[in-house]
Amino acid sequence: MAGASTYPPSWYAASAELLPQQPRLDGRIDTDICIVGAGYTGLSAALELAEAGYSVVLLEAERIGWGASGRNGGQAIAGFGCGEEKLEALVGPEDAKQMFDLSLEGLRWLRTRIARHGIDCDWRDGHATVPIKPRQQRDLLAATEHFHNHYNHPVEWWDRDRLRTQLASDRYLGAMYDPLSGHLHPLKYALGLGGAALAAGVRIFERSKATRLVRGAKPSLKTAHGEVRCSHVVLAGNALLHGIAPEIESRIMPVGTYIAATRPLGEERARSLIRNDMAVADTNWALDYFRLSADHRLLFGGRASYSTLQPPNLRWVMRRRMQRVFPQLNDVDFDYLWGGMIDISLNRAPHWGRIEPNVWFAQGFSGHGVIATGLAGKLIAEAIRGQSERLDLFAKIPHRPFPGGRALRTPLLVAAMAWYKLRDALW
Ligand SMILES: Cc1cc2nc3c(=O)[nH]c(=O)nc-3n(C[C@H](O)[C@H](O)[C@H](O)COP(=O)(O)OP(=O)(O)OC[C@H]3O[C@@H](n4cnc5c(N)ncnc54)[C@H](O)[C@@H]3O)c2cc1C
Repeated sequence: MAGASTYPPSWYAASAELLPQQPRLDGRIDTDICIVGAGYTGLSAALELAEAGYSVVLLEAERIGWGASGRNGGQAIAGFGCGEEKLEALVGPEDAKQMFDLSLEGLRWLRTRIARHGIDCDWRDGHATVPIKPRQQRDLLAATEHFHNHYNHPVEWWDRDRLRTQLASDRYLGAMYDPLSGHLHPLKYALGLGGAALAAGVRIFERSKATRLVRGAKPSLKTAHGEVRCSHVVLAGNALLHGIAPEIESRIMPVGTYIAATRPLGEERARSLIRNDMAVADTNWALDYFRLSADHRLLFGGRASYSTLQPPNLRWVMRRRMQRVFPQLNDVDFDYLWGGMIDISLNRAPHWGRIEPNVWFAQGFSGHGVIATGLAGKLIAEAIRGQSERLDLFAKIPHRPFPGGRALRTPLLVAAMAWYKLRDALW
């Protein structure tokens, strides 16, 4: 069944083969592990734990992959949202390097899962990070050298002419090209993980929102119609988790971001835009990111909304942004336009760990979660099995709540973002 209405309308929902709807939780059940949220984080933890022999229940408020995992830009990028320099400042160069190596393990995990479960999600190799301003060009060139010298990561620096042979846009001054990163169809990937989790014996309940966490030696999660008692809880509700664990929810901020899909352009016209089929993202704070779909559309993302409300004139704004990159598409409108929430932490670094000896969480992917979520799920599963060193590495990253609490964090963030956007515009 393609394009069922239970998912927000998007090109992804229209082009994916959906899974049969899973039951709603009715009544009380006991299990080893209860996970909240069937996005990449929850599904990967569920899969790892079920394969290790645990009984696993997964509660999903809507449908599998309904959140960011089924709507995102599909850019599978090594590393983390805050960048290496920031991580080095937060935890020191050695731990930052270990974290980056783990992100590459996350990339291998993703590719292994795709292969092992036969997930048909249109994987393509290659990702370019592109500068618009000379300041950004200098920073990116320095980052490329830093990757070579300290991370042994095989990124390439492309000057403007080299980039122009692959990307038909005059907007960018060069590129840091990463041959290991790539892109995929995010909802197909989420549904593939969901199918694999079901096959491994995970009991997934859809339309079963967890409304309360009761902590203790034997914690439980309540829904409107049932309750799950367990030995361990994993909170993987991301930007959509609300009212379950205030101490982690206050450390992320939901931010809206949007993607548009053009009509199919035909193979020749699509390929004339991005010849090597790589994914592309610029380095602005409010960035543009884009790639081609398997059916030769341009998928163009951008336009953050810090108030989480859909911006007015969104279609017009997105067209203008796309035409700034590709003026040759001035005759092309969008077939689909959708949005979702990313979970940014104050320092944009990952926020993973535990809030009780038996309550684990991962959030703060800061728009950079396609690879990092699989790693987070794997490390949480590892920690539940008794080996927490690698998850504890991430728990070292200091995180502060957004100033002003829930009521004020949005206006304060809007003010901060206005400054960053101004900086992008001026320098
Ligand atoms: C528009 C957009 C573009 C993006 N582009 C990229 C990109 O190109 N590259 C990249 O790396 N990252 C990107 N991201 C970020 C990436 O999608 C996320 O980091 C990642 O999908 C997070 O996965 P997750 O499993 O943690 O959360 P989600 O996928 O959001 O899943 C959380 C799930 O938990 C459920 N839930 C929440 N609360 C409850 C509750 N109380 N009870 C039961 N269920 C609950 C939700 O319904 C949801 O299904 C983008 C995000 C968006 C929104």
